[in-house]
Amino acid sequence: MSVVRIDHVSKDFRLGEQTVHALHDITLAVEPGVFLAISGPSGSGKTTLLNLIGCIDKPTRGKIFVNDQDVSALSANQLSDLRAHSIGFIFQTFNLLPVLSAAENVEYPLLRRADITPEERKRRVDYFLDIVGLSKYANNRPNQLSGGQRQRVAIARALAVKPSIVLADEPTANLDKVTGREILKLMKQINRHLKTTFIFSTHDQKVIDHADRLVQMEDGSITAFGVRNGKTWNLARVRSLPEDDDGDVSE
Ligand code: ADP
Ligand code: MG
Repeated sequence: MSVVRIDHVSKDFRLGEQTVHALHDITLAVEPGVFLAISGPSGSGKTTLLNLIGCIDKPTRGKIFVNDQDVSALSANQLSDLRAHSIGFIFQTFNLLPVLSAAENVEYPLLRRADITPEERKRRVDYFLDIVGLSKYANNRPNQLSGGQRQRVAIARALAVKPSIVLADEPTANLDKVTGREILKLMKQINRHLKTTFIFSTHDQKVIDHADRLVQMEDGSITAFGVRNGKTWNLARVRSLPEDDDGDVSE
């Protein structure tokens, strides 16, 4: 079983008269429990891919399965239900609600879950704030927290729904190196202990080195898949054939 399966997915954006081909024919399966990095330079399609996996956007062609469910077959309501139950998001810019405290930010995605009682909400807020080491800051608003602390709140918020997948789009890009490394370590500990699948994008080699699976992207295509082998990567390069290529690939 895969938590996410992407089957020949392409994504085009219309930009005035132009069409931007953001993703070309992406095929990928993500096993449960992995800590997967999507690497690639700016503009390579990382955010577009994460947004498709998170059902924030829809593919132009191809299919996406989350927990073996074809998401193209779901109504808008079913999609928001799927997001509310199964997917946690962590963003580069933290995206916390500034008027809410840390605890209220973590509680926020639980408010639309009719199946979770107020007592259970409180338990989860306390539990996940503790996991990210911020119990003492529960009542602080985001502007009373450092960047690293804000990202910790965002991690707790993503985990509060007990998602099967957490998607993190360049989660360390707005943090200094040391803080970024701490955030990555924390995500990895959570991945190990709670078995939550993490899919995160980055263009930072140090961050990539924390992952146990790797998808390398370039110009909207996957160029290599990697599996960690101790300190090194076993990389399987993908023979990519962009439309304007004559097929002469030297590998
Ligand atoms: P990355 O996250 O790797 O930097 P993106 O997924 O943001 O890459 O972008 C991939 C390509 O798609 C880029 O060429 C970008 O300009 C384009 N793109 C992304 N989103 C849109 C959009 N909403 N409208 C038009 N073009 C877009
Ligand atoms: Mg991006």
